[in-house]
Amino acid sequence: MFEEKANEVVANLPWVKNVKVTMSAQPARPLFAEQLPAGLQTISNIVAVSSCKGGVGKSTVAVNLAYTLADMGARVGIFDADVYGPSLPTMVSPENRLLEMNPEKRTIIPTEYLGVKLVSFGFAGQGRAIMRGPMVSGVINQLLTTTEWGELDYLIIDMPPGTGDIQLTLCQIVPLTAAVIVTTPQKLSFIDVAKGVRMFSKLKVPCVAVVENMCHFDADGKRYYPFGRGSGSQVVQQFGIPHLFDMPIRPTLSASGDSGMPEVVADPQGEASKIFQDLGVCVVQQCAKIRQQVSTAVTYDRSIKAIKVKVPDSDEEFFLHPATVRRNDRSAQSVDEWTGEQKLQYTDVPEDIEPEEIRPMGNYAVSITWPDGFSQIAPYDQLQTIERLVDIVLPAVHA
Ligand code: ADP
Repeated sequence: MFEEKANEVVANLPWVKNVKVTMSAQPARPLFAEQLPAGLQTISNIVAVSSCKGGVGKSTVAVNLAYTLADMGARVGIFDADVYGPSLPTMVSPENRLLEMNPEKRTIIPTEYLGVKLVSFGFAGQGRAIMRGPMVSGVINQLLTTTEWGELDYLIIDMPPGTGDIQLTLCQIVPLTAAVIVTTPQKLSFIDVAKGVRMFSKLKVPCVAVVENMCHFDADGKRYYPFGRGSGSQVVQQFGIPHLFDMPIRPTLSASGDSGMPEVVADPQGEASKIFQDLGVCVVQQCAKIRQQVSTAVTYDRSIKAIKVKVPDSDEEFFLHPATVRRNDRSAQSVDEWTGEQKLQYTDVPEDIEPEEIRPMGNYAVSITWPDGFSQIAPYDQLQTIERLVDIVLPAVHA
C-alpha cells in the first residue's frame, strides 16, 4: 500500500520519468529496554498466547501465528513456556534439536527452524522433569531471560495453560505487549476466557484477539458445530475485545502439528492459513497501536512546566504540576508503611522541581526520575486522581 501510494504520488510530478521505490524500516525500539533483563532488550513486541485449559490448540495457534508473522517479513522467536508438556519439538523440525550455551557469556543460543528462533524446555535435553510451581517459574525465568534472542520484532510466548501463579510470575518477568486467548466453543469456555482476560487486565496487558478453535467442520455439504455455537459474541460484548477468529476443525492442522511443519508453511493458501494471516495482521496492527499509546501517555512539557497525561483509549488530556506529582508519591520512601503517615514534607519538594526523565513501566505506570536521583513509580490510575492544573495557556502556535 505504501509502495503503491509513493509510486503514484511521485509519478504524478510532471518532470518525473520513472519511479523506483525502495522500502526499509527502522526496527521499533523496545519500550522499556532499560528495565529488562539483557536478553530481552532487543525485542520490540512480546505477545502471549494463552488458554485456561490444555488441549484447546494454544500451541497450534502460537506456532502458526509465529510463522505467519515471519512470512510477513518480521523477525520472530517462539518461547515455549510449557515446561510440563512442551509441544514445540513435535511441531517444528530444527536441524539442531538442542539449545547451545555460550560458555563465555553464560547465555543460551536459541535453535532455529525456517528463520524463526526457538526456545523450549523440550530442546534442553533433560527430558521431562517433575517440578513444583516455584521451580517451574525459576526454570522459565532462566530460560527466557538468559537467551540471546538478538533483534526480534515479535517474541511469541506459548504460555502454560491456566491462570495460576506460574502464569502470573511469567507475566511479571516480561512486559507483555499483548495477549491472544485461545479457547474452544464449549459452554464452560466463556468462564475460562473471562478468567484469562481478568488475569491479563490485572497486569494491564490488553487482550487483542480471541481464537475460538475447533468451531466447526464441513461434511456431506453441511456444516457441523460439534461443541455447539461458541460464546464469542458474548466475549466481544462483555470485554470489548475487538477481534474474534473462528478456526475450524481441520485434520491437516492436527497432522501438521505432528509432522514438524506448521500448517501455514505446509499449505500457505489453505483455509486455516488465511485465518492465521488475518490473526497476524490483527496482532501487528494492535501491537503498533498499543506501543503508540503507551509511549505517548505521559510526557513533560518544558515550555509550560507541566506534566501532560494522555489517557489511553480516549481523547482526554490533562496537565499536572510536577511538584504535586512528586508530593503524591506513595512509595515506602515517602509514606511510612506501618502508619500510612506521609514522611515527605510538603516543603521538602521545591515548588519549581522538574522531572529529568519520564519512562513507561510495564503497561501500568510511568517511572519519573527527579533531579535528586529519586525514581518515582506513578501508576496511571493514581495520576488520574491527582489534582490537575487548569487554565493552562498553551504558547501560541505561529504558522
Ligand atoms: P494446547 O497447546 O492447547 O495443549 P495443542 O495446540 O497442542 O493444544 O493442540 C492439541 C491437539 O489438537 C493437537 O494434536 C493439535 O494438532 C490438535 N488441533 C489443534 N487445533 C486443531 C484444529 N483446529 N483442527 C484439528 N486439530 C487441531
